[in-house]
Amino acid sequence: MATVESGVATGVSFGLTDEQRELRALAREFAEKEIRPRAAECDEGQIHATDIIAKAHEVGLMNVHLPVALGGLELPCFDGILVAEELNWGCSGIGTSIGANGLAAGPILIAGSKEQQRQWLGPLIEAPVLGCFGLTEPGAGSDVSGIQTTAVRKGDDYVINGSKMFISNAGHASFMVCFASTDLGAGSKGLSAFVVPMDTEGLVVERHLDKMGQRSTDTSAVAFSDVVVPAANRLGAEGDGFKIAMQTLDFTRPATAVGAVGVAQAAFELSVEYTRERVQFGLPIAMNQGVSFLVADMATEIEAARLLCWQAAWMIDQGRGRKATKYSSFAKRFSADTAMKVTTDAVQVFGGYGYMKEYPVEKLMRDAKLFQIYEGTSQIQRLVIAKEIYLP
Ligand SMILES: Cc1cc2nc3c(=O)[nH]c(=O)nc-3n(C[C@H](O)[C@H](O)[C@H](O)COP(=O)(O)OP(=O)(O)OC[C@H]3O[C@@H](n4cnc5c(N)ncnc54)[C@H](O)[C@@H]3O)c2cc1C
Repeated sequence: MATVESGVATGVSFGLTDEQRELRALAREFAEKEIRPRAAECDEGQIHATDIIAKAHEVGLMNVHLPVALGGLELPCFDGILVAEELNWGCSGIGTSIGANGLAAGPILIAGSKEQQRQWLGPLIEAPVLGCFGLTEPGAGSDVSGIQTTAVRKGDDYVINGSKMFISNAGHASFMVCFASTDLGAGSKGLSAFVVPMDTEGLVVERHLDKMGQRSTDTSAVAFSDVVVPAANRLGAEGDGFKIAMQTLDFTRPATAVGAVGVAQAAFELSVEYTRERVQFGLPIAMNQGVSFLVADMATEIEAARLLCWQAAWMIDQGRGRKATKYSSFAKRFSADTAMKVTTDAVQVFGGYGYMKEYPVEKLMRDAKLFQIYEGTSQIQRLVIAKEIYLP
């Protein structure tokens, strides 16, 4: 019988190969030993975990999709999400810092020339270098056609002016893939993508933003004033920016979605342990169906979310185009909403202790919320799904 990993469309199996099981075990061990012990401290102090990121790079848990030709592992999307779930199980703030390189590398993999890939992605393989993805602006979030940052051609260069908002890792990145308009009147069709080194004159990381959850990942506002980049840094043609951004998000959404599964799984495991141990009315609270049914629903919904992520990643690996887009949105919407529900219920089963910072579930609830917002809100995922249903 064909297996998920074989990609042969004659049957279905949910078995992983030995290599995939080993990869997942490596990621779980890393999350357990390196990430979890530091999660609370990094959350409290909004600490960007440079040392943990460097270790993840050293053991091969970063940038796993980058091509063999550049020295990378070129793992399929499916294998990548096995890693992403475990890192986010450890801490989704640190997991996001590690995973955001996928967003930065995506446009270069999709639209970059061989030379551009060597120049910008090669360093990511050699060292724990970070990139960032600059799409969102103060006035353009869900609707990126409203982007107001401009890139004006001047001879062999472009001059970029404008501002970007909520950019993950911007304060620690060596480059940004910046989406700017080369034709403001053309809306999304006027967007183009540029790789901009973060030390370029006129580019300023203005503010590290103080967040509710995933606090150890840096989220910054960035300003561009007369930032000059060579035309050679443009990815694809003028006007290709929107397509490049959307294709990137299609590829990264299953990994983001499965991050939510990792957070939910952590909350579920803690809930099982706690409800076994906590005694009220002379019995462990798990003996009450009012409690154990909450936990049963957690387990069911987490499994459903994980399977949607697996299916979306598998479709991407099969090159299923627009069908993969719909499944990526299924996965992102359902996993994010599941993580929010599961972590809220986890706080509930922990009672008053769940609401205290001393216990880990309040962090998980704060962390889960972000999955319903970044890389397309849950409403925008529904918009994508509805479009695929009514305008296939
Ligand atoms: C911590 C964090 C990290 C991020 N990292 C990055 C990054 O690295 N790079 C990057 O480019 N961006 C990043 N983002 C931006 C993120 O993708 C946006 O915040 C998100 O797309 C929503 O945009 P917005 O915040 O402007 O909200 P808005 O678009 O203003 O939406 C506000 C509300 O209206 C709803 N809404 C909007 N339009 C519709 C509609 N048509 N139908 C129904 N509901 C609608 C939304 O769902 C939402 O609930 C990050 C955001 C956060 C919070």
